Amino acid sequence: MTKKVLVLEDEANIRSFIVINLKRAGYETIEAGTGAAALEQLRRNPDVNVALLDVMLPDTDGFEVCRRIRAGNSRIGIIMLTARTQEMDKVTGLMTGADDYVTKPFSPAELTARIDALCRRATGEAVVDTGEIRYPPFLLNTRNRTLEKNGQRVKLTQVEYSIVKLFMDNVGKALSREEILDAVWGKDYFGELKIVDVNIRRLRIKIEDDPTNPTYITTVWGFGYKWGF
Ligand code: CA
Repeated sequence: MTKKVLVLEDEANIRSFIVINLKRAGYETIEAGTGAAALEQLRRNPDVNVALLDVMLPDTDGFEVCRRIRAGNSRIGIIMLTARTQEMDKVTGLMTGADDYVTKPFSPAELTARIDALCRRATGEAVVDTGEIRYPPFLLNTRNRTLEKNGQRVKLTQVEYSIVKLFMDNVGKALSREEILDAVWGKDYFGELKIVDVNIRRLRIKIEDDPTNPTYITTVWGFGYKWGF
């Protein structure tokens, strides 16, 4: 299956550098130079697997584009393209629903590794399971990859789903941040551990009764996290 990637980048030379390298690696690409064009392209191409979103854009910023994509699509993988000076933006981007970020300047190999990791997660596990995991008030449906809390659907990204699934497969067991990173992002992922913390912070906002005092995903200080006490 060809992977389809949307490239949102207003600087034409950077965009064509990315597109040339993705094509060389076997991806199908769609290009956009503005946030509005990117959203329009996604409407026309609902089968896009991964969107690469530049942060600084002429008409809007990449975070707003991310928010708008996520509002209607929880399955697509989203990678933010950030500048080295935008350290805080990484966190902002992940909080608005991005799965990952790549800091400019990046190598084509780094970018394709990140895209592949997201595609694997989005398509790889979908066919294996047919069951449900119950952990009241939660119900995780591993066939549809959905989560309900008290019968209400909680909208999760693919990364968030994978984290919840990992916890529910290991209830009461402390998982190190490295274990979580390996299990969810893959062993060949070369990002930072911080991405685990940011995703868990976002997940807590969605699933905890009181995100500032979490009782489902609890912190194991100096080590990682676990599901339950
Ligand atoms: Ca830009």
